[in-house]
Amino acid sequence: MTHLWKLDLIRRKMADLQLDSFLLSDLHVIRWLSGFSGSSARVLLSQDRAVLFTDFRYREQVAEEVDSMECSIIDGGFLNAFAESGVPGPERLGIENDVVSVGEFERLRARFDRLAIVPVSGFFDEFRMIKDAAELGALRQAARITEQTLEKIVPMISPEVTELDIAAEISYWHRRFGAERDSFEPIVASGPRSAMPHARPQPEKIREGSLIVIDMGCVCNGYASDQTRTFALGKIPDEAAKIYSIVRDAQQLGLDSIRCGMAAKELDAIVRNAIASHGYGEAFGHSLGHGVGVEVHELPRVSSASEDYLHPTTVFTVEPGIYLPGRFGVRIEDTVVLHESGPEPLQRYTKQLVQL
Ligand code: ZN
Ligand code: ZN
Repeated sequence: MTHLWKLDLIRRKMADLQLDSFLLSDLHVIRWLSGFSGSSARVLLSQDRAVLFTDFRYREQVAEEVDSMECSIIDGGFLNAFAESGVPGPERLGIENDVVSVGEFERLRARFDRLAIVPVSGFFDEFRMIKDAAELGALRQAARITEQTLEKIVPMISPEVTELDIAAEISYWHRRFGAERDSFEPIVASGPRSAMPHARPQPEKIREGSLIVIDMGCVCNGYASDQTRTFALGKIPDEAAKIYSIVRDAQQLGLDSIRCGMAAKELDAIVRNAIASHGYGEAFGHSLGHGVGVEVHELPRVSSASEDYLHPTTVFTVEPGIYLPGRFGVRIEDTVVLHESGPEPLQRYTKQLVQL
């Protein structure tokens, strides 16, 4: 994977902010920029150098994964290695405001007391919205693995299994199909818990007459998938079937309404209004969607408060829901890649109500 376009964008922004150098600490950003997947690393950038620092555990891995920057195996702490590399300086060093701990900030300030340390918020977020061909390939592969996993686990749903059983199968099959890991803890929420958007799976058997919300994703080559389907076990109440149809139609309306260049909040409003027109506006309390990349939640925000626009190669979810506390809930979620010509949904799994 070549990441030179990313380095180029970053260096232009560093120049705009008059930063001589920038220290990256966020491992997701380091993966996005360098391809390195180890659990301990920092990257120092200047206009003419890019150095990735890690420790001896990753000596071979870093050589395999990283081809777009110098690699330095540290012997001791990062701070001495930074100083020895000669990269920081001469005046202003940028750091990630949302990532660096107060302790690390203090140590940097003490070690590089001649430098102005400049915390910058969300430095990389906009750049991460735009995906290149290799990134889109990884996102498609992650989505495919999650769909294969869904095919495996749906037949297992019965009154004999618990939510935790299903969650465990999801993690197992993700890996069996080649994922690195889950992109978040799988949500398997049945009965009244289906009305809790982020319910934790419980060691309780799934009851007949339940809706079951399954929200799951994996990571493949560093990139995440995210998908939700809602299933019925046995005969469900009429209102549960009704809200299922409303959510499904609203989600489809959302997918059909996506246009390049539109404001993300406009898309949110289209779907929100559709749900509100059936009297369930209050029951859809979260945003319509979010970007997906090396993290399962990144830009663009797809919400009523979003200032983001939907550009070509942005990747984001469309996931309306209706939640009736104490009773039941429905959510349906696809992830789409936006092209000039329109959206490419990454999921194919049916959105007809599957009754088990
Ligand atoms: Zn999800
Ligand atoms: Zn999501």
